Amino acid sequence: MKSKAEVVVIGGGSTGTSIAYHLAKLGVDVILVEKGYIGSGSTFRCATGIRQQFTDEANIRLQKYNVERWKRLSEELEYDVNFKQTGYLFLATTEEEVEAFKQNIELHNKFYVPTKLITPEEAKEIVPLLNADEFLAGQWNPTDGKANPFKTVFAFAKKARELGAEIYEYTEVTGVIVENKEVQGVKTNKGIIKADVIVNAANAWAPIINEMVGLGKEFIPIKPYKHQLVKTEPLKEGQIEPLVCPPAWNDSYVLQDGEDGGVLCGTGIEYGPTYDMTPTYDFLRGVLKWATRIIPALKYVHILRQWAGFYAKTPDSNPAIGKINYIDGFYIAAGFSGHGFMMAPGVGEAMAELIVKGKSKVPLDWNWYDPHRFERGELRSAAFQIG
Ligand code: FAD
Repeated sequence: MKSKAEVVVIGGGSTGTSIAYHLAKLGVDVILVEKGYIGSGSTFRCATGIRQQFTDEANIRLQKYNVERWKRLSEELEYDVNFKQTGYLFLATTEEEVEAFKQNIELHNKFYVPTKLITPEEAKEIVPLLNADEFLAGQWNPTDGKANPFKTVFAFAKKARELGAEIYEYTEVTGVIVENKEVQGVKTNKGIIKADVIVNAANAWAPIINEMVGLGKEFIPIKPYKHQLVKTEPLKEGQIEPLVCPPAWNDSYVLQDGEDGGVLCGTGIEYGPTYDMTPTYDFLRGVLKWATRIIPALKYVHILRQWAGFYAKTPDSNPAIGKINYIDGFYIAAGFSGHGFMMAPGVGEAMAELIVKGKSKVPLDWNWYDPHRFERGELRSAAFQIG
């Protein structure tokens, strides 16, 4: 293990591996340390969804950019991450929701995200198995999509290594060395690594790292909430191509895995704050009630697996991204709630540029994601959370 680098990135999920790749691409000597294996936090447990359909300008603009990045990512990383633009379909059950959809669509279109209002009949053409009778309208964007989180993390890590980065798995940061309010390096279970820049990409565990730096766990109040998924046996390809979500049905959603055709089913049942990842029977019952109401044919499909991961939630469900002003050389990109996977390419690029150049060409609104906003008592409008 090397004992010195220019930058140490803590956390090997989609965020940390993307940051490490983008830093290595800019010629930075970077080490990424991951306490388990890469992807083992929340990234390998996510629902694979990638969307631009947020309800605020900052997230829409970032995600519009990210979709362009996702489109080129396999070619750039020379490894297929299986990004597919299969769309996101939100469904309304009340007139109030239809009105809200219209407002969302106006905002999306302002930033050239081609969301449109569709009828239940049109929704059924997109998802033939849909129980369209229960819905009044759909909010449909065909340019949203999904990608394979396993392949994405491996691709970022592979390319980062090719560009000179070191990635140490099963290497846990146990302390951060800070002298005169400047970071000097990290202590790990395998020894000390000196570095002038440390990036906290530990997401649900980010407050523990912040505490090591002396900031206190509540400085950026990220809390781990257990969220779960079930996956069915494979259906024929293309049966439920988009992510389908009627938000009023407890934020429930279904999405056919772009890799093997199994259907991922999620719902808004959450537990926490907790670091427990045990799947629960209550979730299994709850999610199946909603999933089979959205797609009745799922009643006849076997469940293969159920698992849990974390939404690392901030009070406004927007991540904390940027530099920490009190400690020289300390940066954070964490607290991604239910939408960190989809943001990884652009967030990694923006963070690397911020560290190296002090600014970035990525349309990431630093003020919106400012890690210091919580201590000022300044919350953003809540980011929509589903997949
Ligand atoms: P993580 O993947 O959690 O990585 C953080 C890493 O830090 C972990 O691997 C951890 O082991 C490591 N770490 C922690 N402490 C230390 C330490 N002391 N030393 C070294 N390493 C450390 N997002 C989407 O975009 N689309 C979706 O459809 C979607 N669906 C989801 C469905 C579910 C059920 C869940 C649970 C999440 C979903 N998410 C989704 C959210 C997404 O999974 C996360 O936002 C994203 O994976 C965050 O990536 P990350 O790299 O920031 O964090």
